[in-house]
Amino acid sequence: MTVMDPRLRQVALATKGFMPEAEGDALFVAACAACSELPGLPIVEVGTYCGRSTVWLGAAAKLSKTFLFTVDHHLGSEENQKGWEWFDESLVDARTQKLNTLPTFLKTLKQAHIGDVVVPIIAESRLASQQWSSELAFCFVDGGHGDEPARLDYQGWAPKVAVGGCLAIHDIFSDPKDGGQAPYKFIYQPAIDSGKFDEISATGSLRILRRTKR
Ligand code: SAH
Ligand code: MG
Repeated sequence: MTVMDPRLRQVALATKGFMPEAEGDALFVAACAACSELPGLPIVEVGTYCGRSTVWLGAAAKLSKTFLFTVDHHLGSEENQKGWEWFDESLVDARTQKLNTLPTFLKTLKQAHIGDVVVPIIAESRLASQQWSSELAFCFVDGGHGDEPARLDYQGWAPKVAVGGCLAIHDIFSDPKDGGQAPYKFIYQPAIDSGKFDEISATGSLRILRRTKR
């Protein structure tokens, strides 16, 4: 099995964010496998935040000699805003008084030395997916967790995954007691129901699906 550069792994673990260690490792392994199956095709990540999962995926891109495009408007999701569960005061821009994760993400990129393989896309996910035309070896969806953003991410990004490539989805909770249902209902279920994806692994709330047909 491919082994991640321990220095990069340390940077990932020291970065703010929402990717548990075991799930980050699973993401890295799955991305390496998909990229070796589909040489030359890139990786897309939706939901950069401060770049925590980006480091695992960037390490996979580097080893696989491909690129990672990571999409975020950097204004945070609903649950990252003031008064919500996942608000972090230290990420508020002093001038605008709004959340801005871009400066922290740029520091992460620099610390990890993965700027040569990671391309930040600072945009609304829908806009980025509408402009995206190539096939993907691996697509990790961890963006907005409301019903509408989840639905749009499925519509926008799932069709870009190449046959043999993977759609990875974070925060999948089949039981509402464990967490929000939108990624489960509007990304995971529709992908399985389409008959075009097989589940190949589950680690914590991370699900990796492999496209079997167009
Ligand atoms: N993957 C990250 C966590 C992502 S949190 C980690 O490992 O820590 C979700 C991110 O999705 C937030 O940074 C938020 O700004 C972004 N986001 C939410 N909705 C979005 C949308 N519609 N377009 C672009 N980014 C979005
Ligand atoms: Mg997540």
